Amino acid sequence: MSPKHVALTQFSVRNDCLQIGNLSLTRLAQRVGTTPFYAYDRKIITERIRMLRRHLPNDIHLHYAMKANPMVAVVQHLAKLVDGIDVASVGEMGVALDTAMPPEKISFAGPAKTKDELSCAIAAGIVLNMESEQEMEYIARLGESLSIRPKVAIRVNPDFELKSAGMKMGGGSQQFGIDAECVPVILARVDALKLDFEGFHIFSGSQNLSAAAIQEAHNKALLLGIRLADYAPQPVRRLNIGGGFGIPYFPGEQALDLASIGKNLHRLLPAVKQQLPESRIVIELGRYIVAEAGIYVCRVMERKISRGRVFLITNGGLHHHLAASGNFGQIIRKNFPVAVGNKIQGFEREVVSVVGPLCTPLDLLADRMEMAKAEVGDLIVVFQSGAYGLSASPTAFLSHPVPKEVLV
Ligand SMILES: *Cc1c(COP(=O)(O)O)cnc(C)c1O
Repeated sequence: MSPKHVALTQFSVRNDCLQIGNLSLTRLAQRVGTTPFYAYDRKIITERIRMLRRHLPNDIHLHYAMKANPMVAVVQHLAKLVDGIDVASVGEMGVALDTAMPPEKISFAGPAKTKDELSCAIAAGIVLNMESEQEMEYIARLGESLSIRPKVAIRVNPDFELKSAGMKMGGGSQQFGIDAECVPVILARVDALKLDFEGFHIFSGSQNLSAAAIQEAHNKALLLGIRLADYAPQPVRRLNIGGGFGIPYFPGEQALDLASIGKNLHRLLPAVKQQLPESRIVIELGRYIVAEAGIYVCRVMERKISRGRVFLITNGGLHHHLAASGNFGQIIRKNFPVAVGNKIQGFEREVVSVVGPLCTPLDLLADRMEMAKAEVGDLIVVFQSGAYGLSASPTAFLSHPVPKEVLV
């Protein structure tokens, strides 16, 4: 790997070949039988949860936001390690309900849930994070017709922003949640409708590498939760203060200072407990839990030299890994960490562009990166690919086969 790239210490290398789940990458490729594929390392996921538990106060509940990686085996594995699962569709809800996680620890967020979705979720007994007044009215009516008292939380669009977030999803005007200043009126209605009120959900953004910004968001979310609790019809049982913990993708980015975030929460929690004695504080994370445990693997099909520039044309590309192509929310395209998996150092090194088979110049996995000199048949690995990979990619574009996924 080029030293210019983030240190990828999570995987070991033996005989110049990447190891994943105690297998060499070449052996794993033989086992999978086809390329491209995604592979996720269960030990690395487990270790991530341990690290989070080490740094965060014991009574913080850790939820997995499964849209980051909805692979059934991954969700089953995580269900044994986390305290709850957050879903964003009825499809995800089905996967979560198939795990051993009790339904009341599953919550469902997302704007404009349909009546059918709401009805399934009420019957399942999961918590609905209500995103609007209309949704609340639907939930109340559906609960009545099902003779079930729906469990609800209010998703709050906070009156602050998460600074330095890769993607802001709270503060200002948003399609998500109910503006904080409107929440007291909504709470009165929750009471009148006899909904089973759980608490608040305050999610402000994603992919944040600044511990200071996350701490500030935690401080503000906890204060906002306490302020809004005064208007609640029953004691707040759950205060979800979001997540947004980022991982380093690009040269110069540093891993998040988790110790500092943990310290801040240790400092804040005693006062919060005094104000909200019946409330669990929840942090929900997707990317941070799974992203670094995953790789995307494709094979070099052709080496092409065009006017001096070397292209490795692979059988993988943006249809499988939109994020690595730079087209999933990046403003300026940067290379994900990429290497030749079966020749990490190699004998010779060269600067190449790794592309896929699609008829579009956007199908670019690495632009002029230094790596080992690769031949036809070698395996190209894209690291940091365990989150927002396959499920966030346009697999139907150009009608190539869909890659496999394995948890090793
Ligand atoms: C997407 C999402 C998450 C997960 O965000 P990550 O950046 O992957 O941790 C958590 N909560 C909500 C409400 C989301 O929409």
